[in-house]
Amino acid sequence: MASASPLDLKLDRALGERTAAAFAKGLGLRTVGDLLSHYPRRYARRGELSALTELPRDENVTIVAEVLSAVNRPMRAKRGSILEVTISDGTGILTLTFFNQAWRQGELKPGARGIFAGKVGDYKGSAQLAHPDYELFEEDPDPQRAAAWAQLPIPIYPATSTVASWQIQKAVGVVLDTLGALDDPVPDAVRAQRKLMPFARALELIHRPQVDADWGGARKALRFQEAFVLQAALLQQRARLRSVAATARTPGPLLEGFDAALPFTLTGDQRAVGQQIAHDLAEPVPMNRLVQGEVGSGKTLVALRAMLAVAESGGQSALLAPTEVLAQQHLRSIARTLGPDLSARLRPTLLTGQLPVAERRKAMLAAVSGSARIVVGTHALLGDKVEFFDLGLVVVDEQHRFGVEQREALRLKGQQPPHVLVLTATPIPRTVAMTVFGDLDISSIAELPAGRSPIESFVVPLAEKPGWISRVWERVAEELAKGHQAFVVVPAIDRTVTEGELLDVSPAANVTDVLASLRENPVLAGRRIEALHGRLPGDEKDALMRDFAAGAIDVLVATTVIEVGVDVPNASTMVVLDADRFGVSQLHQLRGRVGRGGVQGLALFVTGAEELTLARERVEAVASTLDGFELANKDLELRQEGDVLGSTQSGGRSSLRLVRVAKDGELIAEAREVAADILDSDPTLAEHPALRDALERRLDAEAEAFLAKN
Ligand code: ADP
Ligand code: MG
Repeated sequence: MASASPLDLKLDRALGERTAAAFAKGLGLRTVGDLLSHYPRRYARRGELSALTELPRDENVTIVAEVLSAVNRPMRAKRGSILEVTISDGTGILTLTFFNQAWRQGELKPGARGIFAGKVGDYKGSAQLAHPDYELFEEDPDPQRAAAWAQLPIPIYPATSTVASWQIQKAVGVVLDTLGALDDPVPDAVRAQRKLMPFARALELIHRPQVDADWGGARKALRFQEAFVLQAALLQQRARLRSVAATARTPGPLLEGFDAALPFTLTGDQRAVGQQIAHDLAEPVPMNRLVQGEVGSGKTLVALRAMLAVAESGGQSALLAPTEVLAQQHLRSIARTLGPDLSARLRPTLLTGQLPVAERRKAMLAAVSGSARIVVGTHALLGDKVEFFDLGLVVVDEQHRFGVEQREALRLKGQQPPHVLVLTATPIPRTVAMTVFGDLDISSIAELPAGRSPIESFVVPLAEKPGWISRVWERVAEELAKGHQAFVVVPAIDRTVTEGELLDVSPAANVTDVLASLRENPVLAGRRIEALHGRLPGDEKDALMRDFAAGAIDVLVATTVIEVGVDVPNASTMVVLDADRFGVSQLHQLRGRVGRGGVQGLALFVTGAEELTLARERVEAVASTLDGFELANKDLELRQEGDVLGSTQSGGRSSLRLVRVAKDGELIAEAREVAADILDSDPTLAEHPALRDALERRLDAEAEAFLAKN
C-alpha cells in the first residue's frame, strides 16, 4: 500500500454517497486522485460581452442584463418542468431556459441584474440560452469584475449523460478547496530544471485557471509527470522481470547443424538480432525481447534458431500464433525448415483448441513429457490443463493480438519463468514501443532477404471512377493467366457478420456476396474460387489454406483471417474491397501477403471513400509507400490514440491522459532517461518516497482494473 495521500481518499468521503455513486457509475472515478486526474478536455470562453440585438447562433456569448420575468411551467410531453427566464440589456430581449431547476426562480427575480453566459441556441426562430452560467450582481455591476469573469476560461470535462461537465467542475472545486499538501513524484531538482510548477499548483490551475496561460503551464507539468511516472513504472517492471532466475541456455550442435543446412545465408540483421537473443538466453535471468520486422523479413527463422538453442539442453519452446490457421502454417513451415532429421528429434507438435480430443491428448502428453521440444498453438496453450516438462522459451508471434495479461499467464507456466520472445510485423514507432512495450528490450530487422521485388500498390477510387472495378477483375484474370494466384480481402463474412476491427459500421463488402459474384464473372470463368473466414471449422480452413498453398485454388476470397503470416509464394495479387474500412497498419500487413516468392506483387485497394476524407487519406497513405515505419507514424497521426495503444492501455484508469505518443516522443524519451537515472542510483526509491508511492498507486490501480475485468 502507498502511504496515505489525500489522493487516496474515497469520493464518498469527499463528496457524499450519492455524488460518489454517480461518479463511480458514470465515469469510473472512485478516489480524489481519480477525480483530479479527470482533466478538462478543453476550455471554453464566456466570450466578449455581446449586445442582445446581435446574437450569433451557436457561439458562446456573455451578456450583462436584467431579469424581466421568470416563469416555471410543467413540460407538455414529458415529466418535469421548465423554467423560462427573460432578460434584457435595454436593447433587446432574450430567453433563458432551465429544465427541472425551478429553484432558480428564487434567485432570478425580476429586477435582478447579472452577467449571463452560454451558447446561443435557436428555438422556433428566436435566440435562447439553455442552462447558461450566470452570476448575479449584488449592487451595481463593477465593470472590471464583469470583464474578469468574462475572461475566465471555463473547463469543459469529458462528461456522460448522467454526469454533466458542470457537475464535475463543481465536485472538483469542492475537492480542491479542502485538498491537503501533496507530495510531488517528480523530484524538485528535475522540476526546477524543466521549469515545471509544483503538483498541487498544477492541479489547481488545470481545473481552475484564471487565464489561459494557467492551464497551459499546468498541463505541461502534469504531462511530464505522467510520462515520468509511466516510464519509471515500466523500468521498474523491467527490473522486476529480471530479478528472478531463469535457466541459461547456450546453443550447440543442434543450431550449428541447422545453420549449416540452411539453403540461404542469414541477412545481416538476422545475424545481429540472433546474437542479441543468444546473449539474452545465455544469462540466468529471463529474456524479454521484442523483435520487429516487416512481413517476410525472416523473424520466424530467427525465433526458430532461438528454439534450437533452448532445445540443446532439453528445453522446450512454445510458439503462440494469433489464429489456428497461422498455428497450423507455422507448424508446417517449422517442420519443413527443420528437415526430417531435426523434426524427428525435436518433434514439433501442434496443440490447439480445435484438435480432435485424442490428438489433443497426445499433444498434451508430448508437452508434459518433454518429448516435444517445440509446441505450436494458440490461446489453448495458455489453458490450465497444458503443462510442460521444461518450458525454456515462449515465442509470441504478432504481439498486437496478445494482451499483456496473456503474456503474463504464459510466463507463469514454467517452474522457472521462461525466456520470452515477442515477434511483430507491425512497425512500432520508438515512442510507442517505449510506452507500450517499455518493459521489453527491442530489436529490429529492417533488411529483407535478397531477391524480393517491391510490391506495386494502387488505389481504385470508386467514388470518381466507378467503372474501374471491372478493370480490377480483368487485372486479376491477367495474373491468373500468368499462373499466379490472388487474394480478395473483404471486411465482412456476410451481410450481418464482420471480423476484426473495422472503422465503419455501414454494410460492407462481404465474403458471401463477393464469392457469388466472382464465380459468375465471365473474366474469371473456369477458375477455382473459394472463401475463407473465421467461422469455418478449423479443419476446413486448414484444407482451404493447404489447397491454396498447393495452387489448387486460384482466388481466395477472405476476411482478415489471412492478415498475418500466411505464406503463399505464388500469390501475386491482393485486392482489398472497402479498403477504407481497414486501418493503415492492417492494410500494410495485408499487402505483405503477396509478392513473397520471386513473383512481382500487386496490391489493389478498392475504396468508395471520397477524395480528401480521412478514410481515403488512410488508403492513399498505404498505397504511397512500402515503408512500414513511415506508415506506422502516419497511422499514429490519423488514428485515435486509444487504438494505437490497444484496449489494455486505453481502458484502465492508469491510461495516458495528457501524453500523446504521436506528438510527445521527445518528452517520453526524456522522461525515460530521467526515470532511468533515478532508478539506477536509487533502485528501491528509498530517497524518492513520493515517486515510490505514485508507482505503488499505479500498481494498485492496475491490479484493481485487472480484477474488475476478470
Ligand atoms: P517473417 O516471420 O518475418 O514474416 P519468415 O521467417 O517467415 O518471415 O521468412 C519468410 C520467408 O523467407 C520464409 O520462407 C523463410 O524461409 C525465408 N527466409 C528467411 N530468412 C531468409 C534469408 N536470410 N534469405 C532468404 N530467405 C529467407
Ligand atoms: Mg512470420
